[in-house]
Amino acid sequence: MYEPYPTPELSHEHKKYRYSSLWESAKQDFKVLIFLLLIAGLIGLGSGHFWLCIAIGFSVFTALQVRALYLVNEWISSRPYDAPPNINGIWGALLFNIYRTQRQERVVQAEMVSLIDRAQASLFALTEAVVITDELHQIEWCNPAAERILGIKASDHGNNILGILRRPAFVEYFQDMEQHPDGIKIESSLYEGHYVQIKLTRFGVESRLLVAYDVTRIHNLEQMRKDFVDNISHELRTPLTVLSGYLETFQEQDDFNPRWRRAFDQMQSQTRRMNALVNDLLLLSRLESEKKIIKNQIVDMPSLMTQLFDDAQAYNTEYRHILHLEIDSHCDLIGSDMELASAFGNLITNAIKYTPKGNGHITIGWHDDQEHGYFTVQDNGIGIDLKHLPRLTERFYRVDSARSRQTGGTGLGLAIVKHVLMQHGAYLEIESIPNEGSCFKAIFPKECLYQSEN
Ligand code: ADP
Repeated sequence: MYEPYPTPELSHEHKKYRYSSLWESAKQDFKVLIFLLLIAGLIGLGSGHFWLCIAIGFSVFTALQVRALYLVNEWISSRPYDAPPNINGIWGALLFNIYRTQRQERVVQAEMVSLIDRAQASLFALTEAVVITDELHQIEWCNPAAERILGIKASDHGNNILGILRRPAFVEYFQDMEQHPDGIKIESSLYEGHYVQIKLTRFGVESRLLVAYDVTRIHNLEQMRKDFVDNISHELRTPLTVLSGYLETFQEQDDFNPRWRRAFDQMQSQTRRMNALVNDLLLLSRLESEKKIIKNQIVDMPSLMTQLFDDAQAYNTEYRHILHLEIDSHCDLIGSDMELASAFGNLITNAIKYTPKGNGHITIGWHDDQEHGYFTVQDNGIGIDLKHLPRLTERFYRVDSARSRQTGGTGLGLAIVKHVLMQHGAYLEIESIPNEGSCFKAIFPKECLYQSEN
C-alpha cells in the first residue's frame, strides 16, 4: 500500500495514553503541582520564607508547563509526521490525541491514493478509449487507448473536445445525448473505413464520461448481411416475375387442362408469397439505410386514412368484419407517405387476418393530444399472449407459424412497422389479451405533427 508519509510506531511511553482519559492526565499534573508545593512549603517553613518558596514552587510548575507547550508547538510546526515527544500530563495526552487522529487520516489517505492508483491503472489497461470532460467540454483526462481510437492525447488536456472530434453526428450527440440512449456509431477520422461506437454519460454538473471502441468488424459483418439480403432479393425478383407471368399465361390458355388447375393455383399463391417476401425484405433493407428515405413530406392524414380504410374494405371482403374509421385530429404527419402507408397498412391487415372470420370489429383511428399523435388499430381477434409481446417486432417472429403462413404472412410486417416508426422518432405500443383482441398504437412525437389549416 502506498503511504505518503511513513507512520512511525508508537513508543511504550505513548501507548500508555491510549487508555488514559484527559482527566487522568490532568491528575498527573496536579500530583506534580502538589508535590512541588509540598517541597516548597517544607523548605519555606524551615527557612522562614514560606510564601517565597511557594511562589518558586509555582514558578517551577509553570516553567515545566511552558516547556511542554514549547515541545508541543515545535512538534506541530516542524515534525508533525514523527512520533510526538514524550511529555507527561495533559499536554502529552493532547499531543497523543492529535497524533492518533493524524495517523488515522494518513491510513485513510493512503487507502484512497492506492484505490485511485488501481482505478487509473485499470483505465490505462483498457482497450476502450475513456475521456473525461468538464462542464466547459474541456478534456480533463484520457487514457492511452483514446489516442489510438480517437486521436485524443494526454497533451490535449484543457482543449475543447468538440474542437477535436468534429464529426457533425458527434457534435449533435454531444449536445443532445437523450436522442441516442445507446450511443452513436461514427466513421473514424484516423483510419479510413474504420468505425467507432461512442457512448457518453453525464455526471456531476455538466461533466461527461466518453467511452469509445472500434466496431469495424461488427460494422462490416452487418454490412455484409445487409448487402447479401439486398442482392439476393433483387436477384430473386426477375425469376419470380417470369414465373408468375408464365403461370398466368398458361392458365389463360383455352386448351388448359383443368386437371392442373389446383397445382397451378398453388404455384401461383406460393409465387405471390415469395414476391411479398422479397418486397418486404427490400423495403426493410431500404429502411435500414436511413439516408434513402425522405421524411419531410406533409402527409395528409384524412386522405391517407380514407385510402387505408378503402384498402382495408377490399381486403376484408373474404373476412367480413365490421370496420370503423375514427378521425379525431386536425393534425397531419410530417414524414414519408409511402413508408407510413405501408406500416399502417401492415397493422390493419394483421388486425383483419388475426380476427376470426365474420365476427370481428376493427377500428382504425387517428387522434392527437397536442403532445403526441396516435395511429391506432383495435381488433377483437385472437389476441397475443403477454410473453410474445417483447419479441413481436423481430424479423420472422411469429406467435403461430402455421396460422401466419396460412394467412399469407411473411413474418416481416411488424419489423417493417418498427423500422418505419423509428425513422420518424415514433414507437409502437401493443396491448393484447388472448381471445379478446389487440390494440396496436403507433405514437408520434410532437415534432412529427403538422397543424393543418382546416
Ligand atoms: P406476419 O406476416 O406473420 O403477420 P407480422 O410481423 O406482421 O408477421 O406479425 C408477427 C406476428 O404477430 C404474427 O405472426 C402474429 O402471430 C402476431 N400478430 C400481429 N398482429 C396481430 C394481431 N392484430 N392479433 C393477433 N396477433 C397478431
